Amino acid sequence: MLSYRHAFHAGNHADVLKHSIEVMLLDYMNQKDKPWWYIDTHAGAGVYSLTQGYATKNAEFETGIARLWQRNDLPAPLQRYIDVVKELNAGSAHLQLYPGSPYVAQALQRRDDKLRLFELHPSDSKLLTENFLDAGRAAKVVQADGFASIKSVLPPPPRRALMLIDPPYEEKHDYVRVVETLKEALERFPTGTYAVWYPQLSREETKQLPEKLKKLGAKSWVHVALTIHAPRVDGFGMHGSGMFILNPPWTLAKELKEMMPYLVQHLGIDKGAKYILEQLAA
Ligand code: SAM
Repeated sequence: MLSYRHAFHAGNHADVLKHSIEVMLLDYMNQKDKPWWYIDTHAGAGVYSLTQGYATKNAEFETGIARLWQRNDLPAPLQRYIDVVKELNAGSAHLQLYPGSPYVAQALQRRDDKLRLFELHPSDSKLLTENFLDAGRAAKVVQADGFASIKSVLPPPPRRALMLIDPPYEEKHDYVRVVETLKEALERFPTGTYAVWYPQLSREETKQLPEKLKKLGAKSWVHVALTIHAPRVDGFGMHGSGMFILNPPWTLAKELKEMMPYLVQHLGIDKGAKYILEQLAA
């Protein structure tokens, strides 16, 4: 069942957390003059309109990126991500477009770096293909199951890679598949950097996932979560989200320490707003 469309959520608080971390991870990889691969197992459409279509329905971006993009007191790690958003909206006083994770990667891509983008939904896969038509061999879009496809890309030829695993979690099975996929990924390519996004919901699986990821045996990890409001009493809705990064750059936790209080302050909705930051350093 493929009912999820990321356009409904483009630019919300969860995208802000996910994409700002993606920028930090790729910026770090760019410090070395050696090519990398960026692998997106659940890539979405690549770029989203914020002025028409699904994104305007609940306008989730208004309580996410819209609260930040024109501020001039941003902490440095967040500024880099906002620069990517601004560049996409260059010349416009209003937010028109929001960059999905493949676009963020493309914005930081250098000449020999490669993008491998998996998207299963026929419509989003078509949009993604159209959005990357000009990329040529620098990016490959594949309409396929991203979990099952890691075999085709790991280990990557340059032996440097960031893999983003960002499923919809509409089905419980996604929680199981994330853990299984990472187990296999770490066997195939133990030194890769793996970033997993997950939602904070009332269901038990969302609480158990980070605990399961801690036990995968990676030499180092960072776990960060942004809660924007207290869980609702009826148990409905997403009250925040988290990112779990295996084999992160050593600089990541420090950058997050700088960024997270700012996100709580500006994206938080009630007194339940908070962040978690924990790590296992190598
Ligand atoms: N990573 C994107 C971003 O940050 O811009 C958003 C991805 S969205 C949360 C999840 C995407 O996964 C949806 O576009 C959905 O169609 C797609 N999807 C669902 N199951 C999939 C699967 N097994 N393999 C690949 N893509 C899948």
